[in-house]
Amino acid sequence: MSKEIKEIAAGLKAFLQNAQEEDLILKAALAQDKAAFTSDVKNSGITENHSPLKMQNRDIHPLPKENSPLDGKTSDAKTKEIAYIAQMINGCQKCELGKTRIKAVPGEGNVNAKIMFVGEGPGYEEDRQGRPFVGRAGQLLDKIIAAMGFTREEVFIANIVKCHPMVDPSNPDKRSNDRAPYPDEIAVCRRYLEQQIKTISPDYVVALGGVAAKTLISQNQTFGAVRGKIFDLNLTCVELDKPVKILATFHPAALLRNPSWKKEAWENLKVLLADMGKIPQAK
Ligand code: URA
Repeated sequence: MSKEIKEIAAGLKAFLQNAQEEDLILKAALAQDKAAFTSDVKNSGITENHSPLKMQNRDIHPLPKENSPLDGKTSDAKTKEIAYIAQMINGCQKCELGKTRIKAVPGEGNVNAKIMFVGEGPGYEEDRQGRPFVGRAGQLLDKIIAAMGFTREEVFIANIVKCHPMVDPSNPDKRSNDRAPYPDEIAVCRRYLEQQIKTISPDYVVALGGVAAKTLISQNQTFGAVRGKIFDLNLTCVELDKPVKILATFHPAALLRNPSWKKEAWENLKVLLADMGKIPQAK
């Protein structure tokens, strides 16, 4: 291992494994209104078997903001950081999902992406391949990305949680066994995603579905209230190096179930394309 990689590894390991801070973040998530958290999950794409929230009791502490130890700006440094974060995710056992996953799904794509797409969590196919959005919803996401004028290789695709949340974890081979992630799972996993966003430093994040929108935009507003609008992204555990904008739209799985929503999803994405200067602003 080169000296540079060792330094990256040591810095990120300390950052991502800081158990004390993880507790603070977890507690902050648990302090949220639990009802508000789940109210819009029906639009998130993994809904049929949504189970009651499973919460843990922890002490309340103020939520820290900190800089990651690394400010990788070159593609090479970003690639190393992203690879190291993936390594950490692949070995993660911070929540129950780590015990039942086949493969963790850290996320993939261009480290210099201008847009990051963030889904909810891996499903059956993703759990087997270790790659995000490779099932039916992924095929639709590919079409959405193409319609926006990008290729999958040009963007970065990740999820709020990195391991497959299952309704019945004792039966991983069952289909339609997906569920939305619980708040405590999101809370312990979010620093991986946040560090990925900081490292990639995209101009835009697209939150796919209610879980991503609630986690990254607002716990207190409904998915309907935030969908299709551009917000400044504020992260919980890292300080971004530059402003990043975020827009939420329907999860592709929700669009598969409700094809009539596709028109609205496209209207949402046009808001982002107009903001990017890729299409004229709507009058
Ligand atoms: N749904 C998600 O939210 N993420 C994936 O990676 C696949 C399906």
